[in-house]
Amino acid sequence: MIEHWIGGERVRSAETFTDVSPIDGRVLTEVARGGATEAEHAVTAAKKAFPAWARTAKAERAEILHAIADGVEKRLEELAITETEDNGALLRSHRRGVMPRVAHNFRFFADWLVQLEHKDFDTRGHTNHVSWDPAGPCALITPWNAPLMLATWKIAPALAAGNTVVLKPAEWSPRTAALLAGITADAGLPDGVFNVVHGYGPEIGEPLVAHPDIRRVSFTGSVPTARRIAAAAAANLTPLSLELGGKSPLLIFADADLDLAVDLAVEQYDNAGQVCLAATRVLVEDSIAGEFTERFIAKASGLTQGDPRDEATDIGPNIHERQLAKIDGYVQRALGSGATAVIGGGPNEDLGGLYYRPTLLTNVAQDSEIVQEEVFGPVLTLQTFKTEDEAVAMANDTPYGLAATLATGDRDRADRVTKQLVAGTVWVNCFFVRDLRAPFGGARQSGIGREGGTWSFDFYCDLKNTVTAPKGWNDR
Ligand code: NAD
Repeated sequence: MIEHWIGGERVRSAETFTDVSPIDGRVLTEVARGGATEAEHAVTAAKKAFPAWARTAKAERAEILHAIADGVEKRLEELAITETEDNGALLRSHRRGVMPRVAHNFRFFADWLVQLEHKDFDTRGHTNHVSWDPAGPCALITPWNAPLMLATWKIAPALAAGNTVVLKPAEWSPRTAALLAGITADAGLPDGVFNVVHGYGPEIGEPLVAHPDIRRVSFTGSVPTARRIAAAAAANLTPLSLELGGKSPLLIFADADLDLAVDLAVEQYDNAGQVCLAATRVLVEDSIAGEFTERFIAKASGLTQGDPRDEATDIGPNIHERQLAKIDGYVQRALGSGATAVIGGGPNEDLGGLYYRPTLLTNVAQDSEIVQEEVFGPVLTLQTFKTEDEAVAMANDTPYGLAATLATGDRDRADRVTKQLVAGTVWVNCFFVRDLRAPFGGARQSGIGREGGTWSFDFYCDLKNTVTAPKGWNDR
């Protein structure tokens, strides 16, 4: 049974919901189903804990965050397996990539906090002293595709800055957030500084966002939910950070290293395509399209689909039957409108359950649903272009602007194209490299605001400028 974690105590709700594994449909646990009452309870706990935590010396806050990172590292295997069972992502990625990054998130923001410099400016002898004051209780609402990784991108800077937190993890993957609550307590984080509530978004997420004592809302998830959250936050004009979906392009020019280009394209099936940054629109220069497609098919056919707990598996299940139906709906409508499935095109009947075959669709129109909307499954489209201008125009022609990737052997071209792309992150001849010192976020409907380094502290703090007259000023 997973309960809420409020004010340092486990708290039940009258109702529960069932958490099921996408691997095999096994019931994992019952989870407390919170609503407005639990939201109120958690915000009250976070508000009560705020003044003391905000006053705690930076070095002490940083020490506790490092202790949380130690706890994550100590329980890494348990966290990795728990998350794989909960969301179906590869165990090998959780072990070697994701969970070490979760620990790193805490260490990074602890260290950044200590280095955060207050700037002083001089105005005719008056000092302008700029400080980052903690804002207060923060509501953090997160998705299921990388639950602990995405949550800790928010939790770590929010806590480091001196705020208190109420986390609402996704209902399809609530288990590692519950483990993290225990880890924070073991690390000595005072009661009420970090709280976790569970339940469905409209039932508990919305009252949390609309609460007048919440000073920041940070959300990662889909665009339709973001609209509701923005509307709920508008009541109190609570500042928002929104990390949303994408329909990112992968531009492959004829001068690219074709092996690299194929690797970059096949990599987009990672996490069964449930990656916000995934470059799901492959745009290939006409002259190399044939050869690229052949090599892509050969490489993608070598991928192993199956149980994400097996080290040899490359593609696991999708998260939920609703998600699988959504993915297949997009693919079948595209096929019905004249698209061709070069590979895949439906669920993997050999495996059953929630496994969808990695799919590549051609003959898709630029204004079609499959090119314009986020599928969030292992589904790529392939389009061709003749000129650089055409490639840029196609790349920018969706409502999104989260990321873009290009493969080219020509640095001048890379510079020219990069400058014209509308995207929060552009990768040139690489993918998924993320440094926490750099800003992360999206343009257009991919989001509002940036996370990372100083940008995170700017968001989670009220910046204050204190102007002080020089000594003796009043004597004149
Ligand atoms: P979602 O929007 O359905 O849910 C996200 C969270 O919001 C969940 O915790 C959910 O319970 C909560 N929620 C739902 N309705 C709510 C409401 N009315 N009020 C408050 N909270 C509510 O998204 P999802 O399906 O969990 O995640 C997939 C989406 O997230 C995709 O669009 C993906 O691109 C996006 N995503 C973006 C990033 C990024 O960094 N830009 C990262 C990962 C995922």
